[in-house]
Amino acid sequence: MKIPRQDMPVQEPEDRVRNFDEVALGFTLDLARKEAERCLQCKEPHCMEGCPVEVTIPEFIEAVRVGDMAKAVEIMKSKNNLPAICGRVCPQEVQCEQRCILGKKGEPVAIGRIERFVGDFELANKTFEVSKGPATGKKVAVVGSGPAGLTCAVDLGRMGHDVTIYESLHTPGGVLVYGIPEFRLPKERVIRAEIETAAKALGIRILTDHVIGRTLTIDELMSEHDAIFLGTGAGLPMFMRIPGINFSGVMSANEFLTRVNLMKGYLFPEFDTPVKVGKRVAVIGAGNVAMDSARCALRLQSLRASENGAQKGAEVHIVYRRSPAEVPARLEEVHHAKEEGVIFDFLTNPIEILGDDKGLVRSMRCIRMELGEPDESGRRSPIPIKGSEFEMEVDQVVFALGTNPNPLVFLNADGLQRTRHGTAVANQETGRTTMKGVWAGGDLVTGAATVISAMGAGKRAAADIDRYLKGEIDW
Ligand code: FAD
Ligand code: SF4
Repeated sequence: MKIPRQDMPVQEPEDRVRNFDEVALGFTLDLARKEAERCLQCKEPHCMEGCPVEVTIPEFIEAVRVGDMAKAVEIMKSKNNLPAICGRVCPQEVQCEQRCILGKKGEPVAIGRIERFVGDFELANKTFEVSKGPATGKKVAVVGSGPAGLTCAVDLGRMGHDVTIYESLHTPGGVLVYGIPEFRLPKERVIRAEIETAAKALGIRILTDHVIGRTLTIDELMSEHDAIFLGTGAGLPMFMRIPGINFSGVMSANEFLTRVNLMKGYLFPEFDTPVKVGKRVAVIGAGNVAMDSARCALRLQSLRASENGAQKGAEVHIVYRRSPAEVPARLEEVHHAKEEGVIFDFLTNPIEILGDDKGLVRSMRCIRMELGEPDESGRRSPIPIKGSEFEMEVDQVVFALGTNPNPLVFLNADGLQRTRHGTAVANQETGRTTMKGVWAGGDLVTGAATVISAMGAGKRAAADIDRYLKGEIDW
């Protein structure tokens, strides 16, 4: 009998909008094994082609099917050191699962859900020990502790190099910690556990509060290390150039999410972090960052309402200039946001933010859009419909329109070239930059992308750094 794709248990929408606990609860062993049974064990599996770190997908699924979890972990960890994270946040529907043969006529194997189960099993049971290779005596500085930096550092540690991570914030993890909310990616149980295990087992030093470009320059780092990897991400937010963006109540998604996540605004009332949450919030954009902002705003509205009395009429809108077909966020996040009550205003674009006499946001003027011919991104371009302007009553506007790399890391690093978009110039295969001994990868090179693509870049750079330091290849 054909086995249907197994659903993952989740918190009910009406419960979860009142807390920041994880929404998706994960497979049980039975569910994971049942889902694993669906895999056809293709002789030429296409799923692997969709994975940027080349996890041997059919092999780990087979180990789960027969219940050999230690083996599943070992197979997974040989390619991916952060499966509990990737299983939660990777856009599998456009990666491995999109290539799964079962998806041609029905639903693909739920590779991400099984991966998450394997990652969580390992965190709970510690069946796998990462070990440091024989010491090479070479020192490497890794700048930035997001997925690119962490992956590069762990691989280099396993290869026997002496690694120090320099991180500008007070907590390591990059976007995994300051951007993606607790209800999608639990910080203590998943991220801290992964980082601590790697740091302890491999002797990686993590120096927080070190802003490279300011605290130390690349030249200064170079004088003490044999190689440098830059994984400083793309944390500089973009705004629209429309009147009114200086009113109080307008902010970037980065600022909003950092206050909620890193500065513990989500632990209200235990932590009374100053974080503005309006009664009627508009989030501009429809990527993962926009979904996270909208869903955080909903939760904070309910938490504050239960503390201060009901907030009648509280609403959160996603305002997006294209149609549902172009939404860039993961399908699951959009589905969850809708279930929780986020209102979607498609084909709508803000043209002005209006304030009151105290300088606070009071509303937003918008215009309706229609879709024209595809633009250079391949998506149909939005065109304003003349005379369709209208006013939307809002008291907070959060911009989630994408980010660029922060230029700080380039300070006093003359040999390090940037593209006109502000990203680092680097070889896609090796990560080598235009400065001898310096590699780069992740969002710093690609612009805002995904966790797994950043990890893939960290891996490729670590392999190249290793060969270079061992004298197997020249610069
Ligand atoms: P980052 O994660 O940005 O890490 C860079 C690190 O470098 C940071 O810790 C930063 O503090 C540090 N740094 C910066 N400058 C310096 C300096 N000068 N000196 C020292 N340290 C410095 N991707 C997905 O695949 N799935 C998702 O569901 C998803 N959701 C997202 C939700 C949000 C809210 C955001 C913002 C992004 C999301 N992404 C998602 C994208 C993904 O998180 C990024 O592509 C990924 O984190 C990039 O990794 P990175 O290591 O290149 O950079
Ligand atoms: Fe299994 Fe799908 Fe990969 Fe084939 S393509 S091995 S069915 S996960």
